[in-house]
Amino acid sequence: MSISQNLKDIRVNIKAGVELVVVSKYQPIEKLELLYELGERVFGESRPQELMKKSKLLPADIKWHMIGALQGNKVKYLAPFVTMIHSGTSAKLLETINKEAIKCERVIDVLFEIHIAQEQSKHGWTKQELIEYLESGVLKELKNIRLRGVMAMASFSYNETIVRGEFREVKVIFDEFKNKYFNDNEYFDTISMGMSGDYKIAIEEGATTVRVGSSIFHE
Ligand SMILES: *Cc1c(COP(=O)(O)O)cnc(C)c1O
Repeated sequence: MSISQNLKDIRVNIKAGVELVVVSKYQPIEKLELLYELGERVFGESRPQELMKKSKLLPADIKWHMIGALQGNKVKYLAPFVTMIHSGTSAKLLETINKEAIKCERVIDVLFEIHIAQEQSKHGWTKQELIEYLESGVLKELKNIRLRGVMAMASFSYNETIVRGEFREVKVIFDEFKNKYFNDNEYFDTISMGMSGDYKIAIEEGATTVRVGSSIFHE
């Protein structure tokens, strides 16, 4: 299978209105160039250095999404150009992103990463932590970030019922937050969930953005 055939197959499965983030981490620049030629414009990376380096080598109309764990001291490298940060994992990180966005005179789109999977190793907020944060009102002070929605990773499991149940829970949380805290906010519209192994289930459960890597790049 070639990258272009993989991409074709995946595009068939992605319904209209759902955004594909091509997860290009660890992939050589030539493969990103090929995907660019095939029409892809949204790329996701999990390491700030790699994201920066690739962004300099590729056309300027690419939208770069940061999807991996992000340390506060790395935010300044991304703030001038990053399109969206999926890994908004803590109050402190959001504050840092806001601070760096001010320096660049930008407003940066950020997602709340929700911890939904069974594994302890995955990052993110619990629903309860997020409620407390949203109730605290701090977010309103962060004028240079725009909270666009939620991001989550399901458990690494071949049990579809577990994965589907987790995605469903994310959608319920999103809807609840939308109604309660972002009611007058047209920008709170993003549910980023689903990767190579489970993006079809994620779309069925309401994903608006899927992050797909290996099933595009495997040959
Ligand atoms: C690597 C990664 C993906 C893509 O995973 P694939 O299984 O290769 O599609 C999606 N989201 C995050 C956060 C990742 O780190």
